[in-house]
Amino acid sequence: MSRNGNPLITSNGFTYFRKQKNLKSGVERWACSTHHHKGCKAALSMIDGVIIRKNTDHNHDNSMRNYY
Ligand SMILES: [Zn+2]
Repeated sequence: MSRNGNPLITSNGFTYFRKQKNLKSGVERWACSTHHHKGCKAALSMIDGVIIRKNTDHNHDNSMRNYY
């Protein structure tokens, strides 16, 4: 959980925030939490907590080592 209460998940040292949920399909879209606003296109798609699609094409280094 982040400080402002939004859910976050971590995968391979990168963190993602839940961007939107498709209520019809149940698919949640998660975007890179640290660099999404800087143009990072990495994102995950999840259904019921299971990752069904992964784009780990980050435009920056692993957030654990280099947070900003
Ligand atoms: Zn990223």
